[in-house]
Amino acid sequence: MFLTISTTGTPERPATDLGFLLHKHPDNAQVFSTSYGTAHVLYPEASVERCTAALLLEVDAVALVRRGKGKGKGRGGAPDAALAQYVNDRPYAASSLLAVALSAVFSSAMKGRCAAKPDLPARPLPLRIEVPALPARGGADLVRKLFEPLGWTVTAEAVALDAKFPEWGDSRYVRLELEASGLTLAEALRHLYVLLPVLDDAKHYWVSSDEVDKLLRAGEGWLPDHPEQRLIADRYLSRRWSLTREAMERLELVRLAEADDTEVEEIDNAVDEEADTEEKPIPLAVQRRDAILAALHASGAARVLDLGCGQGQLVQALLKDVRFTEIVGVDVSIRALTIASRRLKLDRMGERQAARVRLFQGSLAYTDNRLKGYDAAVLSEVVEHLDLPRLPALEYAVFGSARPRTVLVTTPNVEYNVRWESLPAGHSRHGDHRFEWTRAEFWTWAHQVAGRHGYEVEFTPVGPDDPEVGPPTQMAVFTLATAPTTTKEEKAA
Ligand code: SAH
Repeated sequence: MFLTISTTGTPERPATDLGFLLHKHPDNAQVFSTSYGTAHVLYPEASVERCTAALLLEVDAVALVRRGKGKGKGRGGAPDAALAQYVNDRPYAASSLLAVALSAVFSSAMKGRCAAKPDLPARPLPLRIEVPALPARGGADLVRKLFEPLGWTVTAEAVALDAKFPEWGDSRYVRLELEASGLTLAEALRHLYVLLPVLDDAKHYWVSSDEVDKLLRAGEGWLPDHPEQRLIADRYLSRRWSLTREAMERLELVRLAEADDTEVEEIDNAVDEEADTEEKPIPLAVQRRDAILAALHASGAARVLDLGCGQGQLVQALLKDVRFTEIVGVDVSIRALTIASRRLKLDRMGERQAARVRLFQGSLAYTDNRLKGYDAAVLSEVVEHLDLPRLPALEYAVFGSARPRTVLVTTPNVEYNVRWESLPAGHSRHGDHRFEWTRAEFWTWAHQVAGRHGYEVEFTPVGPDDPEVGPPTQMAVFTLATAPTTTKEEKAA
């Protein structure tokens, strides 16, 4: 399987700069071993006017089978019949494996790094990419829909099943040529890295939850605005519904974060206008945050804990509201906290803002004196991430030890799962959910917790409240019951 990348040049800007950008010298043929076989990089032509780099991957079919073992059930690709494991199109087709090889061999180029000529990577250059055999589920039409919005001129021709027998019709392969003059090489490589496996849509050997990170990283700058974003995320993540959902929510947040840079007033107006004219559904994550903010306002809380704050979206929303004078985000994951602190730009924050916010690492399975003395604590989509046997420990740490006046707990309502179009029956919404509760189960748990720790509890639906299955998210609002004092009426009686 192979692809070629070509560029043209002039004496001032020689085409052979491609070698610098790819970090591979045009005079040498180079060999790299990758997880799935041997990758070769060579230059069929390298002159000032024209330079072409070819990436050729010799797939090791045996290694492929070995690595594939036990890595979860894939779709499409090689059926698991004994021989088909070894005899399949993987060695020839420019599939997801070629994408893996691209990222392994051209990782610096993909990141847009070039120490030798630092100004090169940011410069768009005339590019031509050829992929002679691209497995394309969805055919040439889909190929165009995926590449054209990114600024490519696309030539995609279906490859006949057998040239000698045209009556047999077309194969599932497409011969692809892409041309562009407004893109950088790093952008081009990142497009291929994501879209080759999307078109292949076959068994991936590497889908895990950090694939969402890889997708968003490779998609930076183009995926948030791509019209086929949902299909791309869905296929790239091998139609793992929970991962697609996470990707879509995070892409939405990227858009929101980008919008943050515009004037606040502008956003307010824009949002209102949009709500009037278009019926775009508000993402559930946003509806959840709004419901939490409303409940916090109603409680009158000023000093708030966000327990299991994740990547800091709620902390960011709280910061924008001056009613919240102290905001503390706590999470067990350092990685989540690092992303949160980047999102909040903690290091560049003015003194007054910085005095209002703090992030720290902690586990909710242990009591922690740092959590004492706050008005309210939020547990947004957190409890379902703990194994059920750990839940009593969290309960004690929050309701027994920290004891804020108000506690908000949100969690998925499992009954609603039948309403999610692409969620297969019996699946939970997120790979890391240890359980998902019905409304009755949540109600029972919440009432027991309230009873044990002297709280009162009320429930609020979040998202569309379906008459049969209820809302997608359920929220419990716990309020510390005031000491049993006699009321005026009782005294009078
Ligand atoms: N509250 C955020 C994130 C929910 S994801 C939101 O609503 O979007 C669940 C988060 O809980 C993750 O960031 C995870 O790291 C964190 N978490 C899971 N178990 C935890 C524990 N024992 N202590 C603290 N945080 C935990």
